Amino acid sequence: MALERTLCIVKPDAVEKNKAGHILAKLEESGFTVVALKRTHLSRQVAEGFYAVHKARPFFGELVQFMTRSPVVIAVLERDNAVVQYRGVMGATDPAKADAGTIRKLYGANVGENAVHGSDSLDNAKIEIAYFFAASEVAPSAG
Ligand code: ADP
Ligand code: MG
Repeated sequence: MALERTLCIVKPDAVEKNKAGHILAKLEESGFTVVALKRTHLSRQVAEGFYAVHKARPFFGELVQFMTRSPVVIAVLERDNAVVQYRGVMGATDPAKADAGTIRKLYGANVGENAVHGSDSLDNAKIEIAYFFAASEVAPSAG
């Protein structure tokens, strides 16, 4: 299985609850290596650009409002098959529908405030990582 990278954002709800460390620890225990990390408060422009694909969705305004409410913690995660593996550990978009033991089941409140973001494909992971990290900030891959 190929070594991959994916983007994790610990969203404002989970950072407000001081759960960023718990979530990163759970990811490390699940076999991911944190190869880049930052804490930042997203501007409206940055959040709108990141979620541009959802611009036409009815929840877009609410999503941008939420994501800019307070700081986030953004991590680049590396492991074999990282995109699919992380979607599994993250759980379904709606925490109520997420499997037991997943991050969204453990820390998410509802379909909007669901604790974490995860890239949905390898192509999008590359785009999302480059959106938040300069090449010089991302440690070289062993793969
Ligand atoms: P995922 O984050 O699981 O990839 P989507 O890409 O479909 O899910 O949605 C992006 C984010 O938009 C979700 O994580 C969630 O924060 C928010 N969102 C999705 N659906 C809804 C909804 N019905 N109401 C409010 N917010 C939503
Ligand atoms: Mg998505």
